[in-house]
Amino acid sequence: MRYRRSLIDAAEYSIPNGDEFIGLSHLEHGDDFQRDAVVPWPVAPRPFFEEAFGSWLGRVASRYDISVGMLWERSIPSEMPRLGNAGWLIFPPVPDYTLERFARLARLGNNRLEAIQTPIDWTTDRQCVPYCFKCLVLNDADVAAPRWKREWLDPTADRCRVHHTFLETVPASIFRKAGNLADARRAIGRHRNPYKRHDPTRIR
Ligand SMILES: [Zn+2]
Repeated sequence: MRYRRSLIDAAEYSIPNGDEFIGLSHLEHGDDFQRDAVVPWPVAPRPFFEEAFGSWLGRVASRYDISVGMLWERSIPSEMPRLGNAGWLIFPPVPDYTLERFARLARLGNNRLEAIQTPIDWTTDRQCVPYCFKCLVLNDADVAAPRWKREWLDPTADRCRVHHTFLETVPASIFRKAGNLADARRAIGRHRNPYKRHDPTRIR
């Protein structure tokens, strides 16, 4: 909640920031709009090299306890692209000026986000999306930050390159319904252990 407040504060108030500054509130008023002037988010997780762009957006939104849709709305002056049936996870490639804006909001080099874009050929509708649960939750780079690997979005992906096991799947609808990656992670937990929380006869 604290983070949500700080994002909203950053979006709604003008805070002087060197020579170049414009509050995001200007985006709502066409008169003063300047595409190139951006107030960075107060905090932003850095993308992991092997991460999918949708996963990174999902993690940023989780950080502020908002949905990916709301994050986009508050950050980018153009409309969010139409998403497929796996929601924000299989995020279609975004134009360069949008990448630049995200990079400045997150204080990143442009290449970093360009490298994790979803290839257009991968943006297909699916019933299920494959992944490796161990890789999802055991992120070598940061154990506290589950992330969705970009390679799992490849429609031909079937094995984990790290664990040499077949990938398991979750319904694509999980990502349509979940607002952000933390929500999705909880829904995946419920999907894998459907009886864990709902069986009244279970001995605690
Ligand atoms: Zn794995």
